[in-house]
Amino acid sequence: MNSNKKFGFTTTILHSDRQNPIEHGSLHKPIHTSVAFGYSDARKLASVFQGKEPGYRYGRQGNPTVSALEDKITKMEDGAQTICFATGMAAIGAVAQALLREGDHVVSSAFLFGNTNSLWQTVNLLGPKVTMVDATDVANVEAALTPQTRLVFVETIANPRTQVADLARIGELCRQRGILYVVDNTMTSPYLFRPKDVGAGLVINALTKSIAGHGIALGGSVTDTGVYDWSVYPNIADSYRRNPPAQWGMAQIRAKALRDFGATLGPEAAHHIAVGSETMALRIERECANALALARMLDADDRVQAVHYPGLPGHPQHALSASLFRAFGGLFSFELKDGIDCFDYLNRLKLAIPASNLGDTRTLVIPVAHTIFYEMGQARRAEMGIAESLIRVSVGIEDPEDIVEDFRQALSA
Ligand SMILES: *Cc1c(COP(=O)(O)O)cnc(C)c1O
Repeated sequence: MNSNKKFGFTTTILHSDRQNPIEHGSLHKPIHTSVAFGYSDARKLASVFQGKEPGYRYGRQGNPTVSALEDKITKMEDGAQTICFATGMAAIGAVAQALLREGDHVVSSAFLFGNTNSLWQTVNLLGPKVTMVDATDVANVEAALTPQTRLVFVETIANPRTQVADLARIGELCRQRGILYVVDNTMTSPYLFRPKDVGAGLVINALTKSIAGHGIALGGSVTDTGVYDWSVYPNIADSYRRNPPAQWGMAQIRAKALRDFGATLGPEAAHHIAVGSETMALRIERECANALALARMLDADDRVQAVHYPGLPGHPQHALSASLFRAFGGLFSFELKDGIDCFDYLNRLKLAIPASNLGDTRTLVIPVAHTIFYEMGQARRAEMGIAESLIRVSVGIEDPEDIVEDFRQALSA
């Protein structure tokens, strides 16, 4: 495979490992479990430690199986470099740990994955200040900027209410002001959307979700798209400034976050994620088609109060989503009319499973206010537009008629 030619998304992932020679003609990068890497020349060991030559030092900082996955994700995002972490949260935490200092300011979308919301509260207590805004309108982001704002953080489609950030305009604003733009692409995945196209400097993916798809391994990643000019970022330590500026951010994240906090992705998990990623485009196509069919069926039923899905014409960012994303994603949420208990409804489903994950091949449902958004309390839920009866659906790859019929039959008590 000629690496200079651009192939399609799935072709590129399938043939990624073979870009470099693999022992015995193996088609998959093997699972390398060794923690240490030996060198016959001690000078070479020193030179690898000093960053003068490529090579592995110790399993916490890098591993050949994990590197092969990092290469795949870099290709998916059309980026420059990727670092994998044990989970998606570890990847987001790494950006905060490695790049923020006391006195810094962050502007974040208020519509966030629950644990990211909690993480920003913790960061707020440690020194940097975080302002949460409604990022569906760039004006709110702009109004919150201060001279100390180091980064702007948004998700693409927010989970569970599916608000879509004003992605392109926020990217343009960050570019004008030299601010690092960090986009959590988990909900769209690099198949539906590439944040690099709207000026993101760093892209987060929770690999646990659509990229792996099977729900058998946790993982996260940070990709540097190559768009951001690190020479204007103030918090880079002298030791990382010895590299070319294009590498400053990732050099500091790999050392200060991955090496020092140690949320390393294991080689077995990296292998599981890599295998899952081969079928990602096929799965996502089916999930998006199923989600649209389900959202339309529920939206047309008068026992349903509201359906939140960017693929429906009534969604506030329907046109924006159509212009940005290849399809509208595999996640939606809905509210039943008063008088229909959301727990009773969930218990009548025969296929969809009450469980907390998304991007799985199986359809999963969860009563949001009582589970994943319980800890934050009702006031914060109301601010985030989360009704107490909201049900989140992560749509799987079941046969369309089966999954639509399951949600339909559960409507009749
Ligand atoms: C799941 C998720 C995360 C966290 O990923 P984990 O692998 O569960 O830590 C972060 N952001 C979004 C949008 C997610 O859906």
